[in-house]
Amino acid sequence: MKLLEMQEINVFYGKAQALHDIALDVQDGEFVSIIGPNGAGKTTLFNAISGLISYKGTIIFGGKVLPKKTYDTVQLGLIHCPEGRSLFPFMTVVDNLRLGAYRRKDKEVERDLQEVFELFPRLKERQRQLVRTLSGGEQQMVAIGRALMGKPRLLMLDEPTLGLAPIVRSHISKALDEIQSRHNVTILLAEQNADFAFKHSDRMYLLETGKIVRQGTSAELQYDPYIQQAYLGH
Ligand code: ATP
Repeated sequence: MKLLEMQEINVFYGKAQALHDIALDVQDGEFVSIIGPNGAGKTTLFNAISGLISYKGTIIFGGKVLPKKTYDTVQLGLIHCPEGRSLFPFMTVVDNLRLGAYRRKDKEVERDLQEVFELFPRLKERQRQLVRTLSGGEQQMVAIGRALMGKPRLLMLDEPTLGLAPIVRSHISKALDEIQSRHNVTILLAEQNADFAFKHSDRMYLLETGKIVRQGTSAELQYDPYIQQAYLGH
């Protein structure tokens, strides 16, 4: 079943067009990545889905037209882990995590908090520490953990590996494997790091200057000569 479908999405910043006729879909349970260089429009695309910026075109989520207000998209389980993390630096790890669940009224919040601690044991050890004192990698773990606390149907991760050392990237990588296998979450990832995206994705889209220029399964795209040369350094 299609969980997310974008139809002819166009975004303008004043007169500048940042997205051109974007059409993409994500099936329930899939891991889909959008790769592309700086300024390609990946963040713009995520911000459009989340209702953070206005767009022309239609987005369908779970079979219904997606509302254009962020509060409503979050209510539907569309959870955005933004580039740059947007954490609350003067609050503790556990308070940042709990904020991810602010809209929830179910009784499973504490259980989910323990699951985030199982996924990132380092956060359990540091749960009373102020977020501003964490390393970049630990902060990224908080950002992902906070998104999970929102109980996502679709988890949108914008550049989760940006600026992280390879060893830390591999921790994030392992966590994404676990999120998908144990928590059965559908994931939409935006990444400049094509190697990282290829490692996880069922399907991928390549975005350049606001247009989708390639799409296919990871198995297909990894043999695409252009992608090999421009994004995989072969
Ligand atoms: P990066 O990974 O570097 O953030 P990106 O692929 O996420 O890149 P966007 O941040 O979506 O790209 O930017 C796409 C284009 O839109 C860029 O040319 C950028 O300068 C422009 N842009 C983004 N936000 C705004 C804004 N608020 N006002 C005007 N132009 C913007």
